Amino acid sequence: MTAAGWQWVVLAFLAAVGGVIGSFLNVVVYRLPAGRSIVWPGSHCPGCGRPIRWYDNLPVLSWFLLRGRCRDCGGAISWRYPAVEAATMGLFLLLGWWELMGGGGHLPERPLRLGSTILWTPYTVRELAALYVYHLMLCCTLLAAALIEHDHPKAGGSVWVRLFLPGGVWGIAAAFVWPTVHPVPAVGPGPVGWMGGLVGVVDGLVGLAAAAGLGLLWGLLSALLRISSRKKLGTTGFWTPVAGATGLVGLYLGWQAGLAVGLISGLFWMLSGVAARYVFPPRTDPGQPRRAFPIPFSAWLAGGSLLWVLFWNQWIAWGKAFV
Ligand SMILES: [Zn+2]
Repeated sequence: MTAAGWQWVVLAFLAAVGGVIGSFLNVVVYRLPAGRSIVWPGSHCPGCGRPIRWYDNLPVLSWFLLRGRCRDCGGAISWRYPAVEAATMGLFLLLGWWELMGGGGHLPERPLRLGSTILWTPYTVRELAALYVYHLMLCCTLLAAALIEHDHPKAGGSVWVRLFLPGGVWGIAAAFVWPTVHPVPAVGPGPVGWMGGLVGVVDGLVGLAAAAGLGLLWGLLSALLRISSRKKLGTTGFWTPVAGATGLVGLYLGWQAGLAVGLISGLFWMLSGVAARYVFPPRTDPGQPRRAFPIPFSAWLAGGSLLWVLFWNQWIAWGKAFV
């Protein structure tokens, strides 16, 4: 098969994996706030409780084949399930095509000085694959966070800890094993040599701390403007969603991106919250919790992070033009 032919095979495979991961994210979003296990038991119909057969559980496809109804009880299955699966599939495809197969042109340039000559270090396929998986992990965690925030605006701190902890631990462990997942290191000459792993971890922690700090400021501002869904300032449920989500962006993309994405996302989030509170109060269905923000903070962060990764090189160029 030709090289171009193989690309299509790989993309088809990535789309299939994306669909399965999207299906898993649906399970996480549905079960994690309920405090239930996300691995056991298998998927059940929320209406009749009967297990869903494997051939009725194919991402996106099954929902259309079943016309959005359970095979057993005929109860409606929300369109959001296939929508989340399709969105995850799209994310896997977009980043697969752009990042994994794009040769790294969108990533920051890595100059290597040898005396008076500067060599540009190209990204290897292995490095691009690590970056691809790394960025998918961030975007998928933020997507799940956005959906949980939408469904449960008052979810408690334990929900957010359970969601963000795996992403945080994985983000630090991966930076230790593959330090080059942070192309713009915060410390040292760059992730080279035996110190590379430690540099990767420190780099991640610096980003985490800087961005989480910014998240705390947004949380504080939402309280001052009286636009938070949560009223109890002292609780972890108030701080963990904002600090955790922003912190993850800093951990995965570095402190520069953590601050830039966190600042712009938070600004849009805050403006939409002010508009919803004082200008256009949203219609709330009876029995539903009032949503202070029309679009969850994590959704802004997810979109911002994706844009940051896709156009990383351009953001740096624009940043240099300003400074
Ligand atoms: Zn059913």
